[in-house]
Amino acid sequence: MAACQTPVPESTLVDYWAGDLPGDASDRVEEHLYNCGDCSARLSELAALGAGLATLARQGRISGIVSRALLNRLQRDGVHVRMFSLLPGESVPCAVFPGDDLIVTFLRADLSGAEAVTLSVTGPGSNPFGRYEDVPVAGELGEILWATPAAFVQQMPSMRLELVLTSGNDARTELGRYVLEHTSLNPIEGNSSPA
Ligand SMILES: [Zn+2]
Repeated sequence: MAACQTPVPESTLVDYWAGDLPGDASDRVEEHLYNCGDCSARLSELAALGAGLATLARQGRISGIVSRALLNRLQRDGVHVRMFSLLPGESVPCAVFPGDDLIVTFLRADLSGAEAVTLSVTGPGSNPFGRYEDVPVAGELGEILWATPAAFVQQMPSMRLELVLTSGNDARTELGRYVLEHTSLNPIEGNSSPA
């Protein structure tokens, strides 16, 4: 069986599954799915994941580049999302608070012409913190959403994270450079004053 030549984009599939697509767009997806085993299988995987989407988020199993559709779905399901928004060149303070489930950072960039992007995140001393390669993007949106489980961030000491977004093409054009100044709210042992 031939692989699908015109796969339904991931974000469209999430929208379709969440019931958020307008009627005619929904009809087109439905027709494609009816004729396409590949994309139907992808929808089944999504549905299996989606049944426990909020649970997965709270277990810290949702991370990396996510779509707006997925973010909206998580919020609709009651996941507590703390959001930060960064323009290229911007440095933004961030912290995580009790009750947060997921941290989502919006990275604004001129994505016109980019079909895919690579995001690399580095900590102090140029330590690699995370790298996401050749993630397909919808250029007109002008933003990338980076998700990190809150439970993970809660364990992090205060530190400066540098994020670099490049186009996924061979040219590797830099699209934006951002800084998150993370402040840990956990009292550091030996550094807290007596109550
Ligand atoms: Zn297909």
